[in-house]
Amino acid sequence: MRATADLPQQEAGRLLGVSHPTIRVWRAELGLGVATERASAAERAARFLTDPADPRHGSANGYRNLGCRCPRCTRAWTGYQRERRG
Ligand SMILES: [Zn+2]
Repeated sequence: MRATADLPQQEAGRLLGVSHPTIRVWRAELGLGVATERASAAERAARFLTDPADPRHGSANGYRNLGCRCPRCTRAWTGYQRERRG
């Protein structure tokens, strides 16, 4: 299975005689790169978290969607929630 890890899901599925959603599941179970979109989103988030100069710091989005807990994002998030409560 790991030998097919570099192949596209369709290709790997054809070689192994299963449908590509199955490949996706297997890869998820093996902890291999599953959905490329998801991996790159995680990568982008990681880059955001380690880059204090990213303009998204200090936003509710940074806190909630990107999972940043830096003082600026935390403050933006608590402020955002306070506004929502009125
Ligand atoms: Zn932040």
